[in-house]
Amino acid sequence: MAVSSYIGRFAPSPTGPLHKGSLLAALASFLDAQANGGQWLLRIDDLDPPREVPGAADRILRQLDEHGLHWDGPVLYQSTRLPAYKEALQQLSRASLLYACYCNRARLRTLGGSYDGKCQIHNLNSSTAIPDKPHAIRIQLPEQSTIDLEDLIQGSLRFDLSKTGDFILWRRDQLPAYQLACSLDDGHQGINHIIRGSDLLDSTPRQIHLLNCLALKPPQYGHIPVLSNAEGQKLSKQNHAPELSSDDTVSNLFDCLGLLGFSVPSELNNSSNQQLLNWAVEHWQPGNVPVLSRVTESDSP
Ligand SMILES: [Zn+2]
Repeated sequence: MAVSSYIGRFAPSPTGPLHKGSLLAALASFLDAQANGGQWLLRIDDLDPPREVPGAADRILRQLDEHGLHWDGPVLYQSTRLPAYKEALQQLSRASLLYACYCNRARLRTLGGSYDGKCQIHNLNSSTAIPDKPHAIRIQLPEQSTIDLEDLIQGSLRFDLSKTGDFILWRRDQLPAYQLACSLDDGHQGINHIIRGSDLLDSTPRQIHLLNCLALKPPQYGHIPVLSNAEGQKLSKQNHAPELSSDDTVSNLFDCLGLLGFSVPSELNNSSNQQLLNWAVEHWQPGNVPVLSRVTESDSP
């Protein structure tokens, strides 16, 4: 049998246990990896200690296990990767791509999400940075940059990267920013397929750009709809999404398969997790996943 070079991953943050929205993302990436004979890696995004909940990482591992979503190889904890993030920062700094941003929160709020480049004069590779003054580190984007993406689920997408503004790679509180850690680890782990929620769609062009700057090959992406509650909010810990129940893991999987566009035969109602997952791997069709709309829990058959 030919060895597949497919490497996928699931990368939750330990800010709380899995809820149904995170199970949906885990399941979609698991199925795509399994259906392609690939590996499915697990990475814990534990780079934001103030937001982490003690014990949540272990709870997530147990929840994945309970649902039969077994990952390949050791778990990578991002907190062990700080030297690599710093090294990448040096690499980008030597290429004169980084600058220190001294803007305070009040100023950033007035900009409404897209940074205006005011601090570009403080390039880290020059002597214009102000020593010891607290700052974030941003990457300077090209004036014009279009990123085209052939999304495995959403089809052809085009992004104007310059519209998003220079984004942060290192936070003011001295922690690596999500975009840097995520891109670097995807490259480090050889991830070549990422299936994740469409709430991360605006991160994707930034990560592709960053991977290019780091001379790493961007993976293929597929974005699934985000699960929202009855009020139309994304299911998340902030919105008090309930913890996934361990009592009926088959029914959790059943619901998520429905949301991913499967018509699961009713005779699988009494199957085990493993039987259900085996069936789903065999019948997985990324093309059946709903396109860029939000699904709500009531959409599950
Ligand atoms: Zn600034």
